[in-house]
Amino acid sequence: MNDEELIALVCCDLGSIVRGRSCFASSIDQQLAQGVGWVPANHALTPLGPVAEPNPFGSTGDLRLMPDPATRVRVEADAASEPRAGALDFMLCDIVETDGSPWECCPRGFLRETLTLLERELGARAITSFEHEFQVLAWPLADQPIAGLPFSLEAQRSSEPFARRVMNALVEAGAEPERFFPEYAAHQFEIPLAAAEGLTGADRAVVFREVVREIARRLGRRASFVPLLNPSEAGNGLHIHISLLDAGGHPLLYDASRPGCLSELGERFAAGVLRHACALSALTAPSPVSAARLAPHRWSAGAVCLATQNREALLRIPPLFSLGGGEPERQMRLEYRGADASANPHLALAAILRAGLEGVREHLPAPPILDRDPAELAAADRERYGVGALPASLEEALEALSEDGQARGWLSPLMFEAYMSVKQAEVRAAERQALEETCRRYAAIY
Ligand code: GLU
Ligand code: MG
Repeated sequence: MNDEELIALVCCDLGSIVRGRSCFASSIDQQLAQGVGWVPANHALTPLGPVAEPNPFGSTGDLRLMPDPATRVRVEADAASEPRAGALDFMLCDIVETDGSPWECCPRGFLRETLTLLERELGARAITSFEHEFQVLAWPLADQPIAGLPFSLEAQRSSEPFARRVMNALVEAGAEPERFFPEYAAHQFEIPLAAAEGLTGADRAVVFREVVREIARRLGRRASFVPLLNPSEAGNGLHIHISLLDAGGHPLLYDASRPGCLSELGERFAAGVLRHACALSALTAPSPVSAARLAPHRWSAGAVCLATQNREALLRIPPLFSLGGGEPERQMRLEYRGADASANPHLALAAILRAGLEGVREHLPAPPILDRDPAELAAADRERYGVGALPASLEEALEALSEDGQARGWLSPLMFEAYMSVKQAEVRAAERQALEETCRRYAAIY
């Protein structure tokens, strides 16, 4: 019997669902030259299944998914899983026109363009790492006993063989996992990855989610990155760490003589991100359950402000260590805490970088570095420290994006329209549902 392996050629769409087509691995050379067919309206598919109506694409047009061979991921089949899964083998693709030119709605293309702007205007290269939390659940979703307390060795051991298998699969996939640990919520885990440059940083986020889901699936479970599973528990955050280096590899965000050791460029960059924070959240935390995670006192991002080592701030300067020969200059980065896995990683990172770039272009003044819980500030102090609230719902976030002319202008008009149609369809579908029910629905999607 013919039993040839398949390789999947995929893209991550506006709703952060990985979609594509598979071909025989033996025919990959042809696909590398010509790509495989794709349809514009696929970019109007909602994460809920149906296509968003109305959408700007309709039934016409043709595109190609062009695989980038540098992104190939292969995780070998696992003899122990039942039914036996084949190897996970895929490449990420750019979405291009049939003549190979970039398609204006391709999120990966949008990030590539943004990185070019950053390089041209600031002489900067972006180094990023995407720090995801997720929950490993019995599936279909069932009440399951909580095995182990937050961060406990027992919680980690109870997850075995998941912990060992997923760490090794991530190494195989080239995602450079650094640590594994149980997080605060029930069945919640986190695996920080090494930082990577440019497109690779965001590619890695896509790869990470798929590999984690694959290993959980092989064990008969579902790894869910849903932003919020249970409204009374901690959510699954995505914290995006960004550092900027010049062409010679010299860190651009560090200056020991300034508050928080953040350079003047870093201050302006941070100010740009804070100025556009509400519009940004439509691109970085864009599910109907995302805003509930971003409420105060969830250690997610309770307020729009900059802080050092403060887990209630949207932008945080993580601790710098000289311990054990560590170099603070090299560790300096900004952590954007207001993202989640419903965001397309390329789109989210590109939008944060564009916001930062606007801040640098406009020489925005340094945002104050908040040294306490933003929720404890009196109204006058909130104003003095420039502390604001994030949108209370996806609908509000989309409104903020529509009204922020600069942010809206980062996307091509067609991409903006397509994005709004997908997200508005999700808003409408969630309107009639209790938050708990929407959380459960989204747990099956992300
Ligand atoms: N679970 C928190 C969130 O939703 C993050 C907790 C932490 O790792 O600081 O972002
Ligand atoms: Mg965490």
